[in-house]
Amino acid sequence: MHKLVSETVVSTGPDQALVIGVDIGGTAIKAGIVGTRGELVNSFHGPSPRSTAALRDFVRSVLESGEHPVRGIGVGCKGVINPESTRVESLPGDLQFLEGRLLSEVIGADNLPVCAENDARTALIAEVLWGAARGRRNVVMLTLGTGVGGAVLVDGSIVRGAAGAGGHLGHVTVDPRGELCICGNYGCLETVFSSRAIESAYWAHLHRAAPATLCVGKSGELPDTEAIFRAASAGDECARYVVDRAQDYLTAALVSLLHTFDPEIFILGGNIAAAGTYLLAPIQEKIARRTKILLGREVPIVVQKTIGYGGVAGAAGLVFLQQKLLAI
Ligand SMILES: [Zn+2]
Repeated sequence: MHKLVSETVVSTGPDQALVIGVDIGGTAIKAGIVGTRGELVNSFHGPSPRSTAALRDFVRSVLESGEHPVRGIGVGCKGVINPESTRVESLPGDLQFLEGRLLSEVIGADNLPVCAENDARTALIAEVLWGAARGRRNVVMLTLGTGVGGAVLVDGSIVRGAAGAGGHLGHVTVDPRGELCICGNYGCLETVFSSRAIESAYWAHLHRAAPATLCVGKSGELPDTEAIFRAASAGDECARYVVDRAQDYLTAALVSLLHTFDPEIFILGGNIAAAGTYLLAPIQEKIARRTKILLGREVPIVVQKTIGYGGVAGAAGLVFLQQKLLAI
C-alpha cells in the first residue's frame, strides 16, 4: 500500500466550488483539493506511482478523504498529453507505463469529469490564474528542474502545435555541437541547464580532481544542484564555472524565446528557479541588453509564484477553465 500524506491547509465553506488537482512527477505524486481562488484546502503527496493501479489508488484515497464534494479531477504530467481525450501520447522515462492510456479511464472515479495536460502547461495556467502572470495573455514559462519544461500562452491561448508537442522549450538547441539529449537532438537547453546537467558537470570536475569544496557523499551521492549554487555563491571555483556556463546557455535560450514570442512577462519555475536572486540577477541585465533593440522594452523575468504547488493548482485550474468557472 502506498503512503498517502495529507495536510489541511485552509478551511472552506460548504458552497465553494472545489476540484482535485493531481501532479504526477517522476519521483513524487502530489494532489490537492483546490478552490477557485487557487487555495489548497487539503494537500497530499506520496511516492511516484509505478503502475496504473497505484495511480488509481492514490487518486481514490484523495477522493475518499475529502469532506466536501468536488466537481472534477485535473491531472498534469510530463510528456505529450492530448487534452481533448486525456490520452498520454508520449511519455519516456519512469512514467512510461502511462503511454497510450487515457487518464480519464485510468483514474476515472464517481463519474467525475477528468481533464489532463502537460505539467509545464498546468504550471503556466496556475501562474496566469493566480500567480505572477495573473491577467496576462502573452506569457512564456520555463520549468527548471530534473529536466526543463516549457509552456507558452499567445493571445490567451496555450500553444499546442499540430501534434501537441508545441512549447517544449527544454528542447530548443543552444549548442549545435552539444551533448545528445533524451529527445534525440544534440545540445538542447535541457542538456546544459537542468539539475541533471549541472550535477553531472560538477561531478566531471570532481572526477578530474579540479579544486572543489564539495565532495561525493559516503554512499556515493553527488552534490545536488542546490548545494552547487550555494557553493558557487561562496566562491567554489568549480561550482562557479559550472553555474556561469549553465547561465550563459539559459541566457541565450531566454533571448531567443523573448525574440520569438514577445511576451508581457517571462516566468522561471521549478526547483532551480527557487535559487532566486543568485540565478536571476546575473542574467537579467544581459538579457535586457540583448533584447532592447528588437523588443524596445525590458520584459520582466520573474520566479514562479506558485513554486511547490503550481502543478497541483494548475491541474485543478484545467477543470475550472473547462467548466467556465474561471477564464484566461
Ligand atoms: Zn532535447
